[in-house]
Amino acid sequence: MKTSSFNKKAFQTALIEWFKLNQRQLPWREDQDPYKVWVSEIMLQQTQVDTVIPYFEHFIEQFPDPNTLADADQQEVLKAWEGLGYYSRVRNLHTAVQEVKEKYHGEVPRDREQLSKLKGVGPYTLGAIMSIAYDEPEPAVDGNVMRVISRVFEIDADIAKAKSRKIFESLVRDIISEEDPSSFNQGLMELGALICRPKNPQCELCPIQSFCRAYQQNSQSNYPVKSKAKKQIPFYYYVFVLENKSGEILIEQRPESGLLAGFWQFPMVEQKELDQSLILPFVEEIFQIDVQEINQLKSIKHIFSHLTWSLDVYHLKVDTIHMKSDNQRLVKLDQLAKYPFPVPHQKVINQL
Ligand code: SF4
Repeated sequence: MKTSSFNKKAFQTALIEWFKLNQRQLPWREDQDPYKVWVSEIMLQQTQVDTVIPYFEHFIEQFPDPNTLADADQQEVLKAWEGLGYYSRVRNLHTAVQEVKEKYHGEVPRDREQLSKLKGVGPYTLGAIMSIAYDEPEPAVDGNVMRVISRVFEIDADIAKAKSRKIFESLVRDIISEEDPSSFNQGLMELGALICRPKNPQCELCPIQSFCRAYQQNSQSNYPVKSKAKKQIPFYYYVFVLENKSGEILIEQRPESGLLAGFWQFPMVEQKELDQSLILPFVEEIFQIDVQEINQLKSIKHIFSHLTWSLDVYHLKVDTIHMKSDNQRLVKLDQLAKYPFPVPHQKVINQL
């Protein structure tokens, strides 16, 4: 894509002036602290701004700098992220700040190479930290930016394909403001979030309308080009809430790797492994318990990015529960909140 005939200076000025006047007041915009920019950008991947704000405030209060986060226990960190989903984000962040503490005395590096080697810091996060915190003209291309740029230049590249990002990055690198890359990048993101929305972009309010080819051609709805995501694979489980006569409930920790690694949950069994009519003898044998009362709670459905969980939940009252392995605990109902649980299991807790 050639941008030689494109009036970059006028484009930058229009975008930056608009951003300065119209930007939302967000807690991570209060200063240029690279750690706060980093945390906010990681949270904002896959999550809406309104959801992120209270999590961000709480997270920064609990872990105000890289060293505090580096020293925190993994369970504490997962607990602070509980409900935000995509937990590999926070596990990578935790590992990365430990490296920042060890190698860089707790200072987020401003060196591009060093920054890019930290776990979980991909081109977007790198660009956001470099430009917003350190005023370096580095592209930060997220979904909002790809949408705006694809419309302005009528770019046909499929944004669902990882390799397309390079096309957008090289274009932004070509037109980014050297004087104020922070406002330029944030301006593109903000314009995508507020004006150049996926459906019905508000072109009449857009500061870069006169530069926009899609507006001139009335082709906004053709951009961005995005192929359909793969369908989520459905999984069906029985969930067992076992409660002994002292009111203690059996929970178990998920393995250290894979989906929801390190989180706690109630025991689950895939439904294809067990006929519903055999639930009672199955749990009595597996957990070596005598069930005195069994109640079915509301079923729960949860959609992850690539799979769904459908949970049929049973609350079983028993005399005694014997723990079978180190990853299990017996916990009173009012103490469950101390452990990080994935959202579908939090929904089970809310029913108890
Ligand atoms: S003119 Fe419309 S389509 Fe073009 S960038 Fe602005 S809001 Fe988006």
